[in-house]
Amino acid sequence: MAEAADLARLLRTAGRCVILTGAGVSTESGIPDFRSPTGMWAHYDPMEYATIEAFENDPEKVWSFYSLRYRALTDAEPNDAHRALAELERRGLVSGLITQNIDLLHERAGSRDVIEVHGSIRECVCLSCGRRYGMDEVLRMLEAGEIPRCTSCGSVLKPGVVMFGELLDAASIERAFQLAREARLLLVVGSTLEVQPVAGLTWETVTAGGDVAIVNLGPTAFDHRAKLKIDGTAGAVLREVVELLAA
Ligand code: NAD
Ligand code: ZN
Repeated sequence: MAEAADLARLLRTAGRCVILTGAGVSTESGIPDFRSPTGMWAHYDPMEYATIEAFENDPEKVWSFYSLRYRALTDAEPNDAHRALAELERRGLVSGLITQNIDLLHERAGSRDVIEVHGSIRECVCLSCGRRYGMDEVLRMLEAGEIPRCTSCGSVLKPGVVMFGELLDAASIERAFQLAREARLLLVVGSTLEVQPVAGLTWETVTAGGDVAIVNLGPTAFDHRAKLKIDGTAGAVLREVVELLAA
């Protein structure tokens, strides 16, 4: 079975890598992922709470889910995995970090080149008049026990995250695909690689002649084609990789 030393060796050979993270990189910060047995979808049906149709039909209900999530996300702190990935970037070993997460924890841990392909909780938008609201303002409305509404036109605000049924931001996903194509090594951390189009990034890398390495607890859809798979906890594995690379 592959371990941290094998990943450190691959990183040394590749020189630089592109990183792709999913919900599993944030579980050690206390944020549940989606698809594992303790994940969010074990309690909330995504069709009822996370689609753009659900938001358009019943935004109050969708906010009953998001208001809990906002608090969990803003209270969370970066963990060893976020910190190790930021450290790799500081050492010049990373040419971009693509994340499916909306929690801002990579940025808060010090990563600078972050591509948020599913948006983030940084802001909310009014779908009626286009006005944008920062996280602090939205949190104040939630703390007051209100559903966040546009102060100009009164419409319920939509979180700046990509819901199921919505298009991804074109510039972000284009940059992600370009990085994946150019990557000699794509390092995937904490993702089942089941959500498209992000899962397709792995194919982009191998088709262009690069390698994919995976650190994930449990199976992913790309294990059979990966150069290396470490079935382990992101925080501990990546901390060890950073230590090995410093030695
Ligand atoms: P996923 O839930 O499908 O997969 C997460 C994977 O990470 C699972 O295989 C799980 O076993 C593994 N994992 C859990 N804890 C781990 C750990 N400590 N170390 C290593 N692996 C661990 O998540 P996904 O692939 O990111 O796709 C789901 C979607 O969920 C994305 O669209 C993303 O936007 C969204 N999401 C984001 C957050 C967040 O922002 N933190 C949280 C939940 C879901
Ligand atoms: Zn408005």
